[in-house]
Amino acid sequence: MPSSAIVGINWGDEGKGRMVDLLTEEYDIVIRYQGGGNAGHTVINEHGKFALHLLPSGIFRPGVVNILGNGVAVDPENLMKEIEEVRSKGVPITPENLKISDRASLLMPWHRELDGLEEQRLADRKYGSTKQGIAPFYSDKYQKKTVLAGELFYPEHLRAHLADLLEWKNLILTGVYGAEPCTMKDLEDWLDDWCEKIRPFVCDTRTFLRDANKEGKKILFEAQLGSLRDLDLGIAPYTTSSNTTAAYAPVGSGCPWARPEMILGVVKAYSTCVGEGPFVCEMFGDEAEALRQAGGEYGAKTGRPRRVGPLDLVATRYGVELQAATEIALTKLDVLSYMKEIPVCTAYEVNGERTCEFPFPAALADAKPVIEYFPGWGCDISSCRSWEDLPEAARSYVEMTEKAIGCPITYVSVGPERESIIIRK
Ligand code: GDP
Repeated sequence: MPSSAIVGINWGDEGKGRMVDLLTEEYDIVIRYQGGGNAGHTVINEHGKFALHLLPSGIFRPGVVNILGNGVAVDPENLMKEIEEVRSKGVPITPENLKISDRASLLMPWHRELDGLEEQRLADRKYGSTKQGIAPFYSDKYQKKTVLAGELFYPEHLRAHLADLLEWKNLILTGVYGAEPCTMKDLEDWLDDWCEKIRPFVCDTRTFLRDANKEGKKILFEAQLGSLRDLDLGIAPYTTSSNTTAAYAPVGSGCPWARPEMILGVVKAYSTCVGEGPFVCEMFGDEAEALRQAGGEYGAKTGRPRRVGPLDLVATRYGVELQAATEIALTKLDVLSYMKEIPVCTAYEVNGERTCEFPFPAALADAKPVIEYFPGWGCDISSCRSWEDLPEAARSYVEMTEKAIGCPITYVSVGPERESIIIRK
């Protein structure tokens, strides 16, 4: 049965949440397959405004089964708090509409602590972590030193496993960082307070998905962050610690048979970047502040002001290639309405040479943006609902982008609400 993926093309925060919320209507199952609670998807619908961190954005649609796949960093405490918050606005969340893979690893209490300790050690060389424990979690996962959610069903085995992990982790906490050791009592409290509560949602999602696929159910894979944060092909070391690309969806979901037919890449009509690292097209001063204000660019998880810049065609084309995107949703076009002329980064200059290829990460610090200006449209476009409604200059901006990135733009979003969308197919 055809499946699809919705992925970020740039640095994250492109508006994936609103696209998943819009498209879930057509799908039976929505799966998060990587990452953890370190970013946020914003969804606005009839229940209110939500910043989802771990829950798949299909959680609001009755009848949709939402899955946290084996590739996700499942933080029992944050997940439970998020479930309670969403439930408090009248959205039912039960083991029927939320399932956690028994093969997903659990983010332990010490992962968040270690994130903070390492950023502190790095001081002014810090990576800009959101301190949700994601990097320590994934390093432990690759060292095979985490707990699988399914182990919650094997209490004796789990206790012995936790005792082993505790002994090892305390060597690092106390020896490397000079921090307080963690105790078995801390872990028991964590099990009682949080893990017990998520246990009813844990099941064998691999066989569930295998059977659902045989029954012809439609699956949507939902990614977190964007191409440039991909652990393998992004802007190392300022990436996240998982693979943000659509190619990872079958692995991180436990559906090796899946071949997403549509890969919808989400691109924002301008650029934003949270945290440290190279951001070639960055704007500063009043120009940046005006764009930040117009777009409300403050982190969904941290409230940090985002770094902003014009649309970066070099990075975006690279992002499209990494995702093997088959179509694009261009979001927040309405935000650019205040500009008389719209700056766009059309190339980079590296060591005096102009290039349209995205450079190796270490070369990014020396790359300079080549900026060209395109005519603005000078009016509010947030009520446009068809391609013809858009002013000509706005259509030209979309067409110019489409041509430069080599992928059809099939959705143009002109506001955060579900209906503020122009469909071009
Ligand atoms: P995600 O992590 O990719 O889902 O991105 P965010 O959660 O940061 O979403 C982007 C923000 O922009 C959210 O506050 C959305 O409600 C909002 N948003 C999404 N699309 C549009 C749009 O077309 N216009 C405007 N003005 N806001 C949008």
